Amino acid sequence: MKSTRPVVIKIGETRIDRAGVEQMLKALEVSGEGTQRFEKAPDNGETLIELAGRICYESFEVGLNPNVTRIRLNPKDYFENLLRKGDGSVAEHAWVSFALIGVSRIMTHELVRHRVGIAVSQESLRYVRPKDIKFWTPDELSPEQSSAMQLAVKQMEDHYRRLEQTIPWDTMDMDSKKRLTSAIRRLLPDGIATNVIWSANHRTLRWVIEMRTDPSAEVEIRMVFDQVAQICKRDFPSIYQDFVRKELADGTGTWKPLLRSKV
Ligand SMILES: Cc1cc2nc3c(=O)[nH]c(=O)nc-3n(C[C@H](O)[C@H](O)[C@H](O)COP(=O)(O)OP(=O)(O)OC[C@H]3O[C@@H](n4cnc5c(N)ncnc54)[C@H](O)[C@@H]3O)c2cc1C
Repeated sequence: MKSTRPVVIKIGETRIDRAGVEQMLKALEVSGEGTQRFEKAPDNGETLIELAGRICYESFEVGLNPNVTRIRLNPKDYFENLLRKGDGSVAEHAWVSFALIGVSRIMTHELVRHRVGIAVSQESLRYVRPKDIKFWTPDELSPEQSSAMQLAVKQMEDHYRRLEQTIPWDTMDMDSKKRLTSAIRRLLPDGIATNVIWSANHRTLRWVIEMRTDPSAEVEIRMVFDQVAQICKRDFPSIYQDFVRKELADGTGTWKPLLRSKV
């Protein structure tokens, strides 16, 4: 058994196509000033969401839509207004992908309950026969309880290895290996660490961060979404401008949006 701890790594995100954005603004007859602002904007999902929002009212600049006499020039102000109004659909345009490394199957079972605006790819324990049993021992256990838990996992691993050694893996085709790998994995604990790629759009991210960092959420999923929230707040400061972190006694953070939720 190897001790591990859940880690979140951002591995991908939506990017804008600068040439395409320029072409679009030209097609919409946006003048120099409106176009220049987007030349300086970051090439990430925040800019895509802003573009998607602005196309609704042609609010790229004053005068494009005769009904619009003033616009919010600063992206932070623009997003604050979006969030305040609860115009969440535009936040669906941009996605972020995270690698969740060393999370338990307990955590992933909770994770997949969130279905909307999400894609999940999880390590297959039908194909993958673990060389090591990686395991996170919850911090809330006393040292004696932690040792007892680790011993139980070690004993379970010993049973698994004994069973594994009875199978002539080298003589088997992939399909047979898969069947037997799947059969013997039933011995492995729910807490075994696994790896997942989890992608979500920003509307979903705001919702799931709030739900899964709530003080009543399970501690491991809160550890994961505390990290997700910190990455989002760092890399997408306008979309998550209203998210506030409060540290809980167990060291994890609970995050709440000050503006309307579900956006
Ligand atoms: C602290 C906590 C404790 C929990 N405890 C339990 C438990 O004991 N047992 C248990 O079974 N589950 C439990 N859950 C899971 C919970 O019931 C939800 O299944 C999970 O949080 C997914 O959330 P969601 O329904 O908002 O789905 P998401 O996929 O995140 O959907 C986001 C939103 O989209 C809308 N939506 C989604 N699907 C539909 C649909 N089919 N039709 C219409 N609108 C839809 C809803 O407004 C929904 O809130 C718990 C969750 C939390 C956060």
